[in-house]
Amino acid sequence: MRVPFIGGNWKMNLTRAQAAELAAGLRRDLNGLRQVEVAVFPAFLSIEPARAALDGSAVRLGAQDLHWEDQGAFTGEVSGPMLRDAGVGHAIVGHSERRHVIGENNETIRKKLRAARRSGLTVVLCVGELLEEKSQGFTKEVVEKQVTQALEGTSPQEREGVLIAYEPVWAIGTGKVATADYAQKIHHFIRNLVRRIADGPTADAMRVIYGGSVTPENIGELIAQEDIDGALVGGASLKADAFTRIVRTVAERKGGGA
Ligand code: PEP
Repeated sequence: MRVPFIGGNWKMNLTRAQAAELAAGLRRDLNGLRQVEVAVFPAFLSIEPARAALDGSAVRLGAQDLHWEDQGAFTGEVSGPMLRDAGVGHAIVGHSERRHVIGENNETIRKKLRAARRSGLTVVLCVGELLEEKSQGFTKEVVEKQVTQALEGTSPQEREGVLIAYEPVWAIGTGKVATADYAQKIHHFIRNLVRRIADGPTADAMRVIYGGSVTPENIGELIAQEDIDGALVGGASLKADAFTRIVRTVAERKGGGA
């Protein structure tokens, strides 16, 4: 059985004090959390206050990005070993804002994925099509290329610590969530892709989560789908109440209760 995963991507939001307050709220509200893996992804500067506020909680700590080298002359960057040292256990790689705003390509993302796994971080690999790619019927081609190139050359041990987040770019931050049916079809496609790239047991074990305008109101229908194993949540993760409701719904429907 795949343990559902809910991630809260705080993006470039919250001061350190606000991040600590939100983390403290989650620690309180998600006390006793079982059978659902929950991680929050603060901005780098807020990792330490969030870590302190989450101390003793089941809520894990993640980073929104990392560099592909472990150390060196890379001004402004943060590496996997630095994140491990700061108590981080998860890293987002290939978020659409990094692909389409910062300009990262599949090769960069592949290197970051391997760097994260080298440091023992669980990777949330984000993939998803732009609106024009969807309109032109290229969703599967785009997603196939993103998944294949990111996982190219990875070992079974590296793949073991990877989750795939299907995040259609047109759904991120727009309030336009994918229908459960559409999301299920693409998740099923991704799982079959992993079956081809790796093998059956890897595909059956890999968590494929949905991202894009997830709210407490729409998570129930999404999580009811066979191949949807959780969610990556942006806007709704900035309020403890909304995020907690999302986690509780997933725990009730697919986990062991929270
Ligand atoms: C995200 O940034 O990964 C995301 C899914 O954002 P939102 O929930 O705000 O659409």
